[in-house]
Amino acid sequence: MRLFIKSFISIQLLFSFDPVKGQSSLADYIFHHDSLRYIIEVLASDSLLGRFAGTAENHKAALFIADEFKKAGLGHVAGNNGYFQEVKPAWFNVIGAIKGKSKPRQLIIFSAHYDHVGTDSTNPFPHDKFAADNDQIYNGANDNASGVAAVICLAKYFKALNNNERTILFIAFTGEELGLLGSQFLANVFEPDSIVTVINIEMIGRSEFKNPRPYITGYEYSDLKKILNRNYEAFGDSFEKEFFKGDPDFKGSLFIRSDNYPFALKGVPAHSIMLTSPADKYYHHPDDEASTLDYQKMKKIIRGIAFGTTGLVKGNDTPTRIKKIY
Ligand SMILES: [Zn+2]
Repeated sequence: MRLFIKSFISIQLLFSFDPVKGQSSLADYIFHHDSLRYIIEVLASDSLLGRFAGTAENHKAALFIADEFKKAGLGHVAGNNGYFQEVKPAWFNVIGAIKGKSKPRQLIIFSAHYDHVGTDSTNPFPHDKFAADNDQIYNGANDNASGVAAVICLAKYFKALNNNERTILFIAFTGEELGLLGSQFLANVFEPDSIVTVINIEMIGRSEFKNPRPYITGYEYSDLKKILNRNYEAFGDSFEKEFFKGDPDFKGSLFIRSDNYPFALKGVPAHSIMLTSPADKYYHHPDDEASTLDYQKMKKIIRGIAFGTTGLVKGNDTPTRIKKIY
């Protein structure tokens, strides 16, 4: 999640199953909390020095994500260098695809940014107070290794299911913390009308509340929330009503502070799914470490996204376009 600055306006797995039960055990397997923890421990390790865009350590993170996309069996997008899309020298978005069977020109995007603010020497707004042990590395476990782990695991899940009628793109954006630069670049590459929806995933690893629910930023701008909840209730297995909530900060700034926004400006129903509240004490703090995340909760949210997007990837649901952003 980008810091709010006022001037900014702006494996083929073989499962033989009945659809619902099989989907559920596949989800249990792929979204296992240990798999999530593994990905996040790699991305948020001290050796990656907070993944500041353009650095060698940021590039190591990109290589790791590309390797996970390869393991998932994702394809490439024409015009890119393998899984890498150059945004500017040494800055790369990482993009993998599963081609749609009958509607390949209609795109469903799952995204999350993989860059973070680096260290005290790169972070434009370094934390000066209570990093107890003189820790100067902003690990960014929640912001946003948690979202990247979700995107990687959703890629593995949908590739294993292998029944998407629309094309699904899985994207790890660079340069989010420095002004949504990777997503702005990509939003100018695709024809907006070809993008059915962007589901951006941000900070789903931690909450200070006891039983928090994921929420959708700027939910009132389209009917995506309704679609996700209807599908979740139809295909999910825990039957929680209104699993996805509205943005608690709707009149605030969360909607314009992440990689959904450049797409939303072009009319694409593009929202971020989040868990963490804006007041999180480890936000842009050196203690945003892998050890502080709730992996069981993350698993539940990613399952929710997988089940909630069933009709979108199958081509049965199309969210309303965003008309005007107030
Ligand atoms: Zn951030």
